[in-house]
Amino acid sequence: MSIKLNSGYEMPIVGFGCWKVSKDTCAEQIYNAVKVGYRLFDGAMDYGNEKEVGQGLRKAIEDGLVTRKELFVVSKLWNNFHDPKNVPIALNKVLEDLGFDYIDLFLIHFPIAFKFVPIEEKYPPGFYCGDGENFHYEDVPLLDTWKALEQLTKDGKVRSIGISNFNGGLIYDLLRGAEIKPAVLQIEHHPYLQQPNLVEFVQSKGIAITAYSSFGPQSFLELNHSKALNCPKLFDHASIKTIADAHKRSPAQVLLRWATQRNIAVIPKSNNPDRLLQNLEVNDFDLTKEEIEEISKLEQGLRFNDPWTWNNIPIFA
Ligand code: NAD
Repeated sequence: MSIKLNSGYEMPIVGFGCWKVSKDTCAEQIYNAVKVGYRLFDGAMDYGNEKEVGQGLRKAIEDGLVTRKELFVVSKLWNNFHDPKNVPIALNKVLEDLGFDYIDLFLIHFPIAFKFVPIEEKYPPGFYCGDGENFHYEDVPLLDTWKALEQLTKDGKVRSIGISNFNGGLIYDLLRGAEIKPAVLQIEHHPYLQQPNLVEFVQSKGIAITAYSSFGPQSFLELNHSKALNCPKLFDHASIKTIADAHKRSPAQVLLRWATQRNIAVIPKSNNPDRLLQNLEVNDFDLTKEEIEEISKLEQGLRFNDPWTWNNIPIFA
Protein backbone atom coordinates (compact mmCIF):
# COMPACT_ATOMS: atom_id res chain seq x y z
CA MET A 1 0.00 0.00 0.00
CA SER A 2 1.22 3.48 -0.75
CA ILE A 3 0.29 7.15 -0.59
CA LYS A 4 0.35 9.18 -3.80
CA LEU A 5 2.43 12.29 -3.08
CA ASN A 6 1.71 15.72 -4.58
CA SER A 7 5.06 15.36 -6.37
CA GLY A 8 3.58 12.49 -8.36
CA TYR A 9 5.60 9.73 -6.68
CA GLU A 10 4.17 6.86 -4.62
CA MET A 11 5.35 6.55 -1.01
CA PRO A 12 4.93 3.19 0.77
CA ILE A 13 2.60 3.60 3.75
CA VAL A 14 4.80 1.42 5.98
CA GLY A 15 8.56 1.85 6.18
CA PHE A 16 11.53 1.05 8.37
CA GLY A 17 12.82 3.71 10.78
CA CYS A 18 16.62 3.93 11.04
CA TRP A 19 17.01 6.03 14.21
CA LYS A 20 19.09 4.31 16.92
CA VAL A 21 19.95 1.38 14.64
CA SER A 22 23.51 0.73 15.78
CA LYS A 23 26.25 0.92 13.16
CA ASP A 24 27.59 -2.59 13.99
CA THR A 25 24.42 -4.34 12.94
CA CYS A 26 22.84 -1.71 10.70
CA ALA A 27 23.83 -3.01 7.23
CA GLU A 28 22.59 -6.51 8.11
CA GLN A 29 19.34 -5.23 9.63
CA ILE A 30 18.61 -3.10 6.60
CA TYR A 31 19.34 -6.05 4.31
CA ASN A 32 16.98 -8.24 6.33
CA ALA A 33 14.29 -5.58 6.27
CA VAL A 34 14.46 -5.50 2.46
CA LYS A 35 14.28 -9.31 2.45
CA VAL A 36 11.15 -9.27 4.60
CA GLY A 37 9.53 -6.75 2.23
CA TYR A 38 10.30 -3.21 3.43
CA ARG A 39 10.82 -0.73 0.62
CA LEU A 40 10.86 2.62 2.46
CA PHE A 41 13.84 3.44 4.69
CA ASP A 42 13.56 6.51 6.89
CA GLY A 43 17.06 7.78 7.59
CA ALA A 44 18.67 11.09 8.49
CA MET A 45 22.07 12.75 8.53
CA ASP A 46 21.71 12.95 12.32
CA TYR A 47 21.28 9.18 12.80
CA GLY A 48 24.98 8.68 12.04
CA ASN A 49 24.39 5.42 10.17
CA GLU A 50 23.74 6.41 6.55
CA LYS A 51 26.91 4.66 5.31
CA GLU A 52 25.68 1.42 6.85
CA VAL A 53 22.11 1.94 5.60
CA GLY A 54 23.60 2.40 2.12
CA GLN A 55 25.71 -0.76 2.47
CA GLY A 56 22.66 -2.83 3.39
CA LEU A 57 20.53 -1.40 0.60
CA ARG A 58 23.24 -1.72 -2.05
CA LYS A 59 23.91 -5.34 -1.06
CA ALA A 60 20.19 -6.08 -1.38
CA ILE A 61 20.25 -4.55 -4.88
CA GLU A 62 23.44 -6.47 -5.83
CA ASP A 63 21.87 -9.73 -4.63
CA GLY A 64 18.80 -9.09 -6.76
CA LEU A 65 16.33 -8.76 -3.86
CA VAL A 66 15.17 -5.38 -5.09
CA THR A 67 15.98 -2.66 -7.62
CA ARG A 68 16.88 0.92 -6.74
CA LYS A 69 13.66 2.06 -8.41
CA GLU A 70 11.59 -0.08 -6.05
CA LEU A 71 13.18 1.50 -2.97
CA PHE A 72 12.04 4.75 -1.33
CA VAL A 73 15.01 6.25 0.47
CA VAL A 74 14.44 9.13 2.90
CA SER A 75 16.97 11.43 4.53
CA LYS A 76 16.75 14.62 6.58
CA LEU A 77 18.68 17.86 6.49
CA TRP A 78 20.26 18.45 9.92
CA ASN A 79 19.98 21.78 11.72
CA ASN A 80 23.57 22.95 11.06
CA PHE A 81 23.04 22.92 7.30
CA HIS A 82 20.11 25.32 6.85
CA ASP A 83 22.04 28.07 5.07
CA PRO A 84 21.15 27.67 1.35
CA LYS A 85 24.83 27.42 0.42
CA ASN A 86 25.24 24.48 2.83
CA VAL A 87 22.17 22.53 1.70
CA PRO A 88 23.89 21.01 -1.40
CA ILE A 89 26.96 20.21 0.73
CA ALA A 90 24.69 18.28 3.08
CA LEU A 91 22.85 16.44 0.32
CA ASN A 92 26.08 15.49 -1.42
CA LYS A 93 27.32 13.99 1.85
CA VAL A 94 24.07 12.01 2.18
CA LEU A 95 24.39 10.70 -1.39
CA GLU A 96 28.05 9.82 -0.89
CA ASP A 97 27.33 7.96 2.36
CA LEU A 98 24.37 6.06 0.92
CA GLY A 99 26.15 5.39 -2.37
CA PHE A 100 23.19 6.54 -4.49
CA ASP A 101 22.88 9.29 -7.07
CA TYR A 102 19.47 10.43 -5.82
CA ILE A 103 17.18 10.03 -2.85
CA ASP A 104 13.40 9.81 -2.91
CA LEU A 105 12.58 12.26 -0.13
CA PHE A 106 14.60 14.91 1.71
CA LEU A 107 13.02 16.56 4.76
CA ILE A 108 14.01 19.58 6.81
CA HIS A 109 14.48 17.69 10.10
CA PHE A 110 13.58 20.58 12.45
CA PRO A 111 12.58 24.23 11.87
CA ILE A 112 15.74 25.25 13.73
CA ALA A 113 18.96 26.64 12.23
CA PHE A 114 22.14 25.90 14.19
CA LYS A 115 25.46 27.47 13.25
CA PHE A 116 27.19 25.64 10.40
CA VAL A 117 29.84 23.06 11.32
CA PRO A 118 32.11 21.86 8.49
CA ILE A 119 31.85 18.13 7.78
CA GLU A 120 35.60 17.71 8.43
CA GLU A 121 35.17 19.20 11.92
CA LYS A 122 32.39 16.89 13.16
CA TYR A 123 29.89 14.72 11.34
CA PRO A 124 27.12 14.36 12.13
CA PRO A 125 27.43 17.39 14.40
CA GLY A 126 24.38 16.63 16.58
CA PHE A 127 24.08 19.48 19.08
CA TYR A 128 27.65 20.67 18.44
CA CYS A 129 27.68 24.21 17.06
CA GLY A 130 31.45 24.71 16.91
CA ASP A 131 31.88 25.70 20.55
CA GLY A 132 31.86 22.84 23.06
CA GLU A 133 28.42 22.38 24.53
CA ASN A 134 27.19 25.90 23.75
CA PHE A 135 24.38 26.30 21.25
CA HIS A 136 24.74 28.84 18.44
CA TYR A 137 22.16 29.70 15.82
CA GLU A 138 22.07 31.16 12.30
CA ASP A 139 19.61 33.77 11.03
CA VAL A 140 18.32 31.73 8.10
CA PRO A 141 14.61 32.06 7.26
CA LEU A 142 13.02 28.67 6.61
CA LEU A 143 11.84 29.77 3.16
CA ASP A 144 15.48 30.29 2.12
CA THR A 145 16.33 26.74 3.21
CA TRP A 146 13.23 25.49 1.42
CA LYS A 147 14.22 27.19 -1.84
CA ALA A 148 17.56 25.38 -1.66
CA LEU A 149 15.66 22.08 -1.32
CA GLU A 150 13.51 23.03 -4.31
CA GLN A 151 16.70 23.50 -6.32
CA LEU A 152 17.82 19.94 -5.39
CA THR A 153 14.69 18.52 -7.02
CA LYS A 154 15.42 20.57 -10.15
CA ASP A 155 18.97 19.17 -10.17
CA GLY A 156 17.48 15.65 -10.10
CA LYS A 157 19.20 14.70 -6.84
CA VAL A 158 16.00 14.50 -4.80
CA ARG A 159 12.58 13.37 -6.03
CA SER A 160 10.33 14.83 -3.35
CA ILE A 161 10.94 17.33 -0.55
CA GLY A 162 9.22 17.82 2.75
CA ILE A 163 9.37 18.98 6.35
CA SER A 164 9.42 17.52 9.81
CA ASN A 165 8.46 18.87 13.23
CA PHE A 166 6.81 21.98 11.69
CA ASN A 167 3.69 23.41 13.34
CA GLY A 168 0.65 24.80 11.52
CA GLY A 169 1.85 28.42 11.53
CA LEU A 170 5.18 27.55 9.97
CA ILE A 171 3.49 25.40 7.33
CA TYR A 172 1.10 28.24 6.45
CA ASP A 173 4.05 30.58 6.06
CA LEU A 174 6.07 28.13 3.97
CA LEU A 175 3.12 27.59 1.62
CA ARG A 176 2.92 31.36 1.03
CA GLY A 177 6.37 31.41 -0.53
CA ALA A 178 7.01 27.88 -1.75
CA GLU A 179 7.16 27.20 -5.46
CA ILE A 180 7.04 23.45 -4.78
CA LYS A 181 4.68 22.40 -1.98
CA PRO A 182 6.06 20.06 0.69
CA ALA A 183 5.13 16.50 -0.28
CA VAL A 184 5.30 15.18 3.28
CA LEU A 185 5.15 16.38 6.87
CA GLN A 186 6.73 13.98 9.38
CA ILE A 187 5.54 14.41 12.98
CA GLU A 188 5.40 12.64 16.31
CA HIS A 189 1.99 10.98 16.26
CA HIS A 190 0.57 8.33 18.58
CA PRO A 191 -2.55 8.00 20.76
CA TYR A 192 -0.97 10.13 23.52
CA LEU A 193 -0.20 12.95 20.99
CA GLN A 194 -2.64 13.08 18.08
CA GLN A 195 -2.65 16.73 16.91
CA PRO A 196 -5.95 16.32 15.03
CA ASN A 197 -6.14 19.95 13.82
CA LEU A 198 -2.65 19.81 12.34
CA VAL A 199 -3.40 16.45 10.67
CA GLU A 200 -6.68 17.76 9.20
CA PHE A 201 -5.10 21.01 7.92
CA VAL A 202 -2.05 19.34 6.40
CA GLN A 203 -4.03 16.57 4.71
CA SER A 204 -6.49 19.17 3.36
CA LYS A 205 -3.53 20.88 1.66
CA GLY A 206 -2.61 17.66 -0.14
CA ILE A 207 0.47 17.09 2.01
CA ALA A 208 1.00 13.50 3.18
CA ILE A 209 1.70 12.79 6.83
CA THR A 210 4.21 10.33 8.21
CA ALA A 211 3.92 9.45 11.89
CA TYR A 212 7.03 8.83 13.92
CA SER A 213 7.25 7.14 17.32
CA SER A 214 3.92 5.39 16.68
CA PHE A 215 4.40 3.35 19.85
CA GLY A 216 4.54 6.49 22.00
CA PRO A 217 6.84 6.11 25.02
CA GLN A 218 8.40 2.83 23.82
CA SER A 219 11.20 4.38 21.77
CA PHE A 220 12.13 6.80 24.54
CA LEU A 221 12.47 4.24 27.35
CA GLU A 222 15.97 3.30 26.18
CA LEU A 223 16.89 7.00 26.43
CA ASN A 224 15.68 7.08 30.07
CA HIS A 225 13.27 9.83 29.09
CA SER A 226 11.44 10.77 32.30
CA LYS A 227 8.02 11.34 30.65
CA ALA A 228 8.28 7.94 28.95
CA LEU A 229 9.28 6.20 32.18
CA ASN A 230 6.34 7.75 33.99
CA CYS A 231 3.42 6.97 31.68
CA PRO A 232 1.70 3.63 30.99
CA LYS A 233 3.09 1.77 27.98
CA LEU A 234 0.68 1.90 25.06
CA PHE A 235 1.28 -1.82 24.47
CA ASP A 236 -0.15 -2.54 27.96
CA HIS A 237 -3.09 -0.17 27.72
CA ALA A 238 -6.40 -1.97 28.32
CA SER A 239 -8.15 -0.33 25.33
CA ILE A 240 -5.35 -1.23 22.92
CA LYS A 241 -5.11 -4.79 24.27
CA THR A 242 -8.86 -5.36 24.01
CA ILE A 243 -8.91 -4.15 20.40
CA ALA A 244 -5.81 -6.24 19.58
CA ASP A 245 -7.43 -9.37 21.04
CA ALA A 246 -10.63 -8.73 19.08
CA HIS A 247 -8.65 -8.77 15.81
CA LYS A 248 -6.15 -11.47 16.92
CA ARG A 249 -3.36 -8.96 16.30
CA SER A 250 -0.64 -7.50 18.49
CA PRO A 251 -1.01 -4.10 20.22
CA ALA A 252 1.80 -2.83 17.94
CA GLN A 253 -0.21 -3.77 14.86
CA VAL A 254 -3.29 -1.98 16.21
CA LEU A 255 -1.26 1.19 16.86
CA LEU A 256 0.14 1.13 13.32
CA ARG A 257 -3.22 0.37 11.71
CA TRP A 258 -4.83 3.21 13.67
CA ALA A 259 -2.54 5.52 11.68
CA THR A 260 -2.53 3.86 8.25
CA GLN A 261 -6.31 3.53 8.22
CA ARG A 262 -6.41 7.36 8.39
CA ASN A 263 -3.92 7.55 5.49
CA ILE A 264 -0.98 8.37 7.75
CA ALA A 265 2.27 6.58 6.90
CA VAL A 266 4.28 4.82 9.64
CA ILE A 267 7.98 4.02 10.01
CA PRO A 268 8.40 1.65 12.99
CA LYS A 269 11.83 0.43 13.98
CA SER A 270 12.57 -3.08 15.20
CA ASN A 271 15.64 -5.32 15.41
CA ASN A 272 13.59 -8.42 16.04
CA PRO A 273 12.75 -10.53 12.92
CA ASP A 274 9.22 -11.48 14.07
CA ARG A 275 8.32 -7.89 14.93
CA LEU A 276 9.86 -6.67 11.70
CA LEU A 277 7.38 -8.76 9.74
CA GLN A 278 4.51 -8.05 12.14
CA ASN A 279 5.00 -4.28 11.75
CA LEU A 280 4.83 -4.59 7.98
CA GLU A 281 1.63 -6.66 7.99
CA VAL A 282 -0.77 -4.05 9.25
CA ASN A 283 -2.97 -3.24 6.31
CA ASP A 284 -4.94 -6.48 5.94
CA PHE A 285 -7.46 -5.75 8.70
CA ASP A 286 -9.66 -2.77 9.55
CA LEU A 287 -10.49 -1.19 12.88
CA THR A 288 -14.13 -0.24 13.38
CA LYS A 289 -15.15 3.40 13.68
CA GLU A 290 -15.85 2.78 17.39
CA GLU A 291 -12.37 1.29 17.91
CA ILE A 292 -10.73 4.30 16.25
CA GLU A 293 -12.77 6.57 18.52
CA GLU A 294 -11.81 4.51 21.56
CA ILE A 295 -8.12 4.95 20.73
CA SER A 296 -8.65 8.68 20.14
CA LYS A 297 -9.80 8.97 23.76
CA LEU A 298 -6.22 8.22 24.91
CA GLU A 299 -5.04 11.73 23.94
CA GLN A 300 -2.88 13.34 26.63
CA GLY A 301 -0.89 15.97 24.75
CA LEU A 302 2.17 13.93 25.72
CA ARG A 303 5.13 14.84 23.50
CA PHE A 304 8.39 12.96 23.88
CA ASN A 305 10.56 14.60 21.21
CA ASP A 306 10.73 18.28 22.10
CA PRO A 307 13.63 20.69 21.38
CA TRP A 308 12.63 22.58 24.54
CA THR A 309 14.72 19.93 26.30
CA TRP A 310 17.78 20.71 24.14
CA ASN A 311 18.22 24.41 24.83
CA ASN A 312 14.77 25.81 25.67
CA ILE A 313 13.77 26.07 21.99
CA PRO A 314 9.98 26.59 22.00
CA ILE A 315 8.94 25.25 18.59
CA PHE A 316 5.80 23.50 19.81
CA ALA A 317 4.52 25.68 22.66
P1 NAD B 1 8.99 3.40 17.33
O1 NAD B 1 7.68 3.98 17.74
O2 NAD B 1 9.14 2.74 16.04
O3 NAD B 1 9.40 2.43 18.51
C1 NAD B 1 10.56 1.68 18.54
C2 NAD B 1 10.57 0.81 19.80
O4 NAD B 1 9.47 -0.09 19.75
C3 NAD B 1 11.81 -0.01 19.90
O5 NAD B 1 12.14 -0.09 21.28
C4 NAD B 1 11.38 -1.38 19.37
O6 NAD B 1 12.11 -2.43 19.94
C5 NAD B 1 9.93 -1.44 19.81
N1 NAD B 1 9.11 -2.24 18.88
C6 NAD B 1 9.09 -2.16 17.53
N2 NAD B 1 8.19 -3.01 17.01
C7 NAD B 1 7.61 -3.65 18.05
C8 NAD B 1 6.60 -4.63 18.14
N3 NAD B 1 5.97 -5.12 17.06
N4 NAD B 1 6.25 -5.07 19.36
C9 NAD B 1 6.84 -4.59 20.48
N5 NAD B 1 7.82 -3.64 20.45
C10 NAD B 1 8.19 -3.17 19.24
O7 NAD B 1 10.01 4.56 17.53
P2 NAD B 1 10.99 5.56 16.86
O8 NAD B 1 12.24 4.86 16.49
O9 NAD B 1 11.01 6.72 17.78
O10 NAD B 1 10.22 6.05 15.56
C11 NAD B 1 10.31 5.37 14.34
C12 NAD B 1 11.16 6.10 13.33
O11 NAD B 1 10.68 7.43 13.15
C13 NAD B 1 12.63 6.33 13.72
O12 NAD B 1 13.41 5.16 13.58
C14 NAD B 1 13.00 7.44 12.77
O13 NAD B 1 13.26 6.94 11.47
C15 NAD B 1 11.74 8.29 12.78
N6 NAD B 1 11.81 9.42 13.73
C16 NAD B 1 11.82 10.68 13.22
C17 NAD B 1 11.93 11.77 14.07
C18 NAD B 1 11.93 13.16 13.50
O14 NAD B 1 12.26 14.11 14.22
N7 NAD B 1 11.55 13.34 12.25
C19 NAD B 1 12.00 11.58 15.47
C20 NAD B 1 11.94 10.27 15.95
C21 NAD B 1 11.85 9.20 15.09
